[in-house]
Amino acid sequence: MCIMLKNVFHLTWNLWKNASGHSTRKMSLNSIQPTVSTLKTCQTDIGTGMDIVSEVALDLVEAQDTDDSPNLKRLEQMMLECARLDKEISCFVASTEQMTAQVRHEPPQAMFTLKDSVKNRFKELMAEVSDADVRRHSKVVAFKESIRKSLIKQNEMTGSNVEEELDEDIAVTQSQTNFTCPLTQVEMVNPVKNKKCQHYYDQDAVLAMIKNKQSKKKSFRCPVVGCGNTDVRKSDLELDMVMKRMIQNHKRQSGKS
Ligand SMILES: [Zn+2]
Repeated sequence: MCIMLKNVFHLTWNLWKNASGHSTRKMSLNSIQPTVSTLKTCQTDIGTGMDIVSEVALDLVEAQDTDDSPNLKRLEQMMLECARLDKEISCFVASTEQMTAQVRHEPPQAMFTLKDSVKNRFKELMAEVSDADVRRHSKVVAFKESIRKSLIKQNEMTGSNVEEELDEDIAVTQSQTNFTCPLTQVEMVNPVKNKKCQHYYDQDAVLAMIKNKQSKKKSFRCPVVGCGNTDVRKSDLELDMVMKRMIQNHKRQSGKS
């Protein structure tokens, strides 16, 4: 899958290079904006790809009950590759935007060196990206966190002793015996957790609500009774994969009976 993404990226890159004038070395500013948006779409696809890899990894952990398997290591490697690619695109978009903004204030002949200046700026930005930065990519962090939580949960279910201390997150997950969204009053499909108040909502419902309130220039209060969080923001929400799977399993089991 990663290879596929890489191909998409290189294809877009070549497209961009050609559009920017291979023979004359002169870039047309009009050709840049569509390419930048294509690259941003690429990043969304990479994000989706990373979510899929995370799902597969959780399947694996559930089936094998360990986080120490060669296949899981391979998936982690894929996550890191995607994260690096994502950073690479961000750097490229940033260098393109910075350099084209700059060229607008310069004499027309600056256009002739635009391509080189984008290239150099890109190299500069990429040089600053360390392996540690790639590991800190939010989806890589979430991936590791989901696996850790999934293992703890499984140890609980199989009744074995849990050496690790239960953290607050899991305590909240456990106390939530129902998977009902406080907004829709039905079982959640894509549960997102509010990092600030630890409450869960269904993704579509809460995003629609935030958008709605924003359009009225109002903030959105957490709908959970007794919650003091008066400003629910999109940036506070994160998809909880382990919770999502718990709901899916619950649905499957209740479907059977
Ligand atoms: Zn809340």
